[in-house]
Amino acid sequence: MSNLLIEPILCRAGTMDNYSWLITDQASNQSAIIDPSEAEPIIQRCQAKNIRPQYIFNTHHHYDHTDANEELKSLYNAKVIGGAHDINRIPGIDIGLEDGDTFNLGDSQAQIIRVDGHTIGHILWYFPENKALFTGDTLFNLCIGGLFEGTAEQMFYSLEKIKALPGDTKFYPGHEYTIHGMGFAQYYNPNSQILKQYIETAMQKIRNHQPVAPITLGIEKQCNPYLQAVTPLALQKLCNE
Ligand code: ZN
Ligand code: FE
Repeated sequence: MSNLLIEPILCRAGTMDNYSWLITDQASNQSAIIDPSEAEPIIQRCQAKNIRPQYIFNTHHHYDHTDANEELKSLYNAKVIGGAHDINRIPGIDIGLEDGDTFNLGDSQAQIIRVDGHTIGHILWYFPENKALFTGDTLFNLCIGGLFEGTAEQMFYSLEKIKALPGDTKFYPGHEYTIHGMGFAQYYNPNSQILKQYIETAMQKIRNHQPVAPITLGIEKQCNPYLQAVTPLALQKLCNE
């Protein structure tokens, strides 16, 4: 069983509140940055920890997830890995992976799950042994990403893939958007004790400037209205509200 250390790096604080994730496979000491949004906070953290990431892993092409690709790539001589569909639109991309492909960071193996919806060709980075799922702009705490390129139907089948993963999987989203999802989740699940507890804990973390993530998929499924839609049409209705 490999050991993966996962640390959030808040980028674009106060505006877009992106999370870039610094992950380190502890057996090999290899590191990767997932969705490098902004160079400065990432370089600072790597310097403080004396880490030179070998890889940049992207979930999709949007600039708030890829803006620091080129700078970090040349600074660390890192390889940029993203979805095959984004091979011509992720800055500095070296390798494009397809749905079902695997990629090893030392002893930690990622599986690529393609999730069209927010964009076409968006991918999730899933580390089954480590029970960790990096969801980019597909799944956030209590909400989901907007439909920039895909349809509600495509997003529905993408969320089905997430729902099929083990409930003890923890997910790591691309933004701190919990506050945005809270009101609608409460409106949708007014009597849920588990949601009430989720929100209380989340508010505490936010007050302490800590990420709400990670939450398990098992809990998220009980609290996130978009994961509770049982048909593509139901999801479409939620997306229109
Ligand atoms: Zn995006
Ligand atoms: Fe984003």
